[in-house]
Amino acid sequence: MTVVAFIGLGNMGGPMAANLVKAGHEVRGFDLVAENLKRAEANGVMAAASAADAIEGAACIITMLPAGKHVLSVYEELSKKADVGTLFIDSSTIDVQSARKAHELAEASGHLSIDAPVSGGVGGAEAGTLTFMAGGTTDAFGKAEPLLQPMAGKIVHCGDAGAGQAAKICNNMILGISMIGVGEAFVLAEKLGLSHQALFDVASTSSGQCWSLTTYCPVPGPVPNSPANRDYKPGFAASLMLKDLRLAQQAAQEAGAATPLGAEAAQLYSLFEALGNGGKDFSGIIEFLRGKTNR
Ligand code: NAD
Repeated sequence: MTVVAFIGLGNMGGPMAANLVKAGHEVRGFDLVAENLKRAEANGVMAAASAADAIEGAACIITMLPAGKHVLSVYEELSKKADVGTLFIDSSTIDVQSARKAHELAEASGHLSIDAPVSGGVGGAEAGTLTFMAGGTTDAFGKAEPLLQPMAGKIVHCGDAGAGQAAKICNNMILGISMIGVGEAFVLAEKLGLSHQALFDVASTSSGQCWSLTTYCPVPGPVPNSPANRDYKPGFAASLMLKDLRLAQQAAQEAGAATPLGAEAAQLYSLFEALGNGGKDFSGIIEFLRGKTNR
């Protein structure tokens, strides 16, 4: 049993903390939103009055927050207040630079630190089947791995500080681009009089095969449980895809990498969101592409 402080008990953090409780850990939680704290309490999390209160006696601090600025402000406070040698795990999806800064803050005060963003969404957080992509020292990763286990289906040590965030945004850049590619192919097929099922039957076993087609098909029918079959109810919301594509663009600019298709995907999702579709599943981008088609 480990005493874990969990900061950020929203859509993801709430069920993740609940799975740590189920695994027998003592979880002390804090969130700025009282309702989220109450929901976590109902799942066995001990509600703290502040982040500083939550970390008292904790051997590990997990953060699951919206963006880099939230993570850095929490790390600035808690790295000074935590007992020396505390393990800091940040599972939020944030920019690589902020992730590296968070590592520096923790390590400068004598703590262990890993960035460990996740994929798998709210469903994976509830089921305890998230994929964790971790960055940090072997020592820190070794200590973090057993604590991540009750929340995880898969845990990958990707490299040094920031490598987990790098893996997350590179993966999601592939996903954003491939979903647009698959959407474009279906829109062209419609114009050419080719049925959705015929394109699926050929491409799903040919060189066009990819996850966006075979698991998450953006038209209803071929993959019965994809969001296209429930009017693009998420799933993975377009606004979260846009967030990750923007993080990828920021990283590409800072690192000097050419990512023209990533830039175009960010632009298309930004237009899709501006039309009021941010809450739809990201595979709904096909409707936007269809809307741009010449009659
Ligand atoms: P969310 O907005 O539901 O939860 C974030 C929580 O952090 C909120 O409850 C908010 O009140 C709390 N918070 C903000 N600042 C705080 C502070 N200083 N102290 C304490 N609590 C604070 O977001 P979410 O969907 O749970 O996502 C969290 C992170 O996980 C994000 O970085 C997101 O990009 C990433 N992520 C989300 C999904 C998903 O499907 N929702 C999937 C993978 C990764």
